[in-house]
Amino acid sequence: MKKIIIAIDGYSSCGKSTIAKDLAKKIKYSYIDSGAMYRAVTLFCLENGLFIGDTLDEKELQNLISEIKITFHFNETTGKSDTYLNGRNVEREIRGMGVAAKVSPVAAVGFVREEMVRQQQAMGQEKGIVMDGRDIGTVVFPEAELKIFVTARPEIRAQRRMAELLAKGDKVEFDEVLENLSTRDRIDSTRKDGPLRQACDARVLDNSDMTVDEQNALVFRWFEEAAG
Ligand code: C5P
Repeated sequence: MKKIIIAIDGYSSCGKSTIAKDLAKKIKYSYIDSGAMYRAVTLFCLENGLFIGDTLDEKELQNLISEIKITFHFNETTGKSDTYLNGRNVEREIRGMGVAAKVSPVAAVGFVREEMVRQQQAMGQEKGIVMDGRDIGTVVFPEAELKIFVTARPEIRAQRRMAELLAKGDKVEFDEVLENLSTRDRIDSTRKDGPLRQACDARVLDNSDMTVDEQNALVFRWFEEAAG
């Protein structure tokens, strides 16, 4: 079987990372969470006072962008890959609502996307990679052999996200989570650079009424077809 690139895109909290992680593990590919990279840049902005209220100081971010190094390292305890910002493990911080509330405006900035796309393309040079995000099949790897566009009903996505946050001990309200998801989807879909949209050659997966096992089986079948 040839090594391929698998691009998984879709709306916020529709289970892209679960699909991508499970598939990567099964087929022994690397998994890259591109959303974690935008989240890490957002954390950097928050920690360095680059937000004045809701306004991002883009000029200052442009001066500092070359200082932002994002890497992923395998965590033996959790069996998952953690995100590091300039050598510091930020996996926990980037998943909270504070970062979620500010990430889409940061991800809409052209030079931020340019830098992240450059790093993501470098990670895929050897193929054998599963990457999830918003623009992976359209911008990062338009030549990916398998593209999947994932979607699910908004209320279901909000329920799943809320369960995740509650399990981590974050106190959140359903309406706040639903509102955050729809705001992010709107900003992500309407931005000028790398908007969230379905690649014309993507396979669509609506997992609203599917179990994780069902979706994994379907995705694995698609992988077998694509990798020949
Ligand atoms: O996937 P996740 O929800 O963690 O992504 C967080 C945010 O990062 C998204 O809402 C989107 O604004 C941004 N993102 C992006 N392009 C990607 C991945 C994520 O703009 N490839």
